[in-house]
Amino acid sequence: AVGAGDQPRPEADRVHEVVIIGSGPAGYTAAIYAARAEMEPIVIAGSLDAGGALMTTTEVENFPGFAKGVMGPELMATMQEQAERFGAEVLFEDAVEVSLEGPVKTVTLEDGTVYRAKALIIATGSAYRELGIEGEKEFSGRGVSWCATCDGFFFKDKDIVVVGGGDSAVEEATFLTRYGRSVTLAHRRDQLRASKIMAARAEADPKLEFAWNAQPVRISGEEAVTSLTVRDTVTGEEREIRTDAVFEAIGHLPRSGLFAGKLELDEQGYIVCQGRSTRTSVEGVFACGDVVDHTYRQAITAAGSGCQAALDAERWLADTA
Ligand code: FAD
Repeated sequence: AVGAGDQPRPEADRVHEVVIIGSGPAGYTAAIYAARAEMEPIVIAGSLDAGGALMTTTEVENFPGFAKGVMGPELMATMQEQAERFGAEVLFEDAVEVSLEGPVKTVTLEDGTVYRAKALIIATGSAYRELGIEGEKEFSGRGVSWCATCDGFFFKDKDIVVVGGGDSAVEEATFLTRYGRSVTLAHRRDQLRASKIMAARAEADPKLEFAWNAQPVRISGEEAVTSLTVRDTVTGEEREIRTDAVFEAIGHLPRSGLFAGKLELDEQGYIVCQGRSTRTSVEGVFACGDVVDHTYRQAITAAGSGCQAALDAERWLADTA
């Protein structure tokens, strides 16, 4: 659905109203709103990851408006079509450099083309940290998941392992106990890294089991996941934990590298916005979706904040005109 093709380039020699970097739910929603406000947005969609995180998944069951669920890539192709219908120009290329100083922002593409705009909306998303072990990619979507809210429902009365030891791992594991026949938290240390109160609560939870000193080495299965092999970090011995699902909760990597030193980022690399707005530390630069979001990281929340970014940009442009 989403592809480069031989698209004509929008002009690079004028100052546009707004350029949007990113084509996930946040970027495309910003594009729909900006295009309907006649801001003629240019969307720098990315080359390999165009369409964003949902391109890598199958069924999305929690995006409102799709009572029977929708395939991730289909949802993203529809969002693209909706943005283009109102005049958004979508370019399937990567932004490799930005300049944010002064009234005109610039975005440079790989081939050196420079787009200039009065406002910039950043919607570059975040990546899930991966274990990098055998079987992980192969079984992604077939038992390997990074999102309990998204996929927990598929593992009713199944055995589940959650990998990680921080607050989000504990949160995911606790949430999954409402579905799983068993939920085991596998952590490479002998105690949780999560905050004391969360760790204490988790350890008192009768539905949670723990695999301590357990370093994941391999995910195995046939059609779907059947086990996770872990190495004991003390004895070096390997053992297999039988499971139907491996939820990885070992952190997120916000894609904010392009903006380091140019925008305020927090200690984890998320772009900092002012209050409830999408305004960043630089005038005329707005950010939305998972690149700003520690907490929710859902397609619908990303889309919602994409809408906010377009409205914030539109009002800011009106005020500065
Ligand atoms: P993303 O969707 O990550 O999009 C980021 C975009 O930025 C991409 O288009 C990328 O190409 C682009 N980009 C990044 N850097 C550059 C650059 N330098 N130049 C140009 N473009 C760039 N959520 C749900 O609500 N329900 C689900 O069922 C669900 N299932 C999921 C399943 C999987 C396997 C995964 C990975 C995620 C799932 N999520 C689900 C989470 C959801 O996908 C994200 O919360 C959402 O996609 C975030 O939207 P976003 O627009 O902020 O970022």
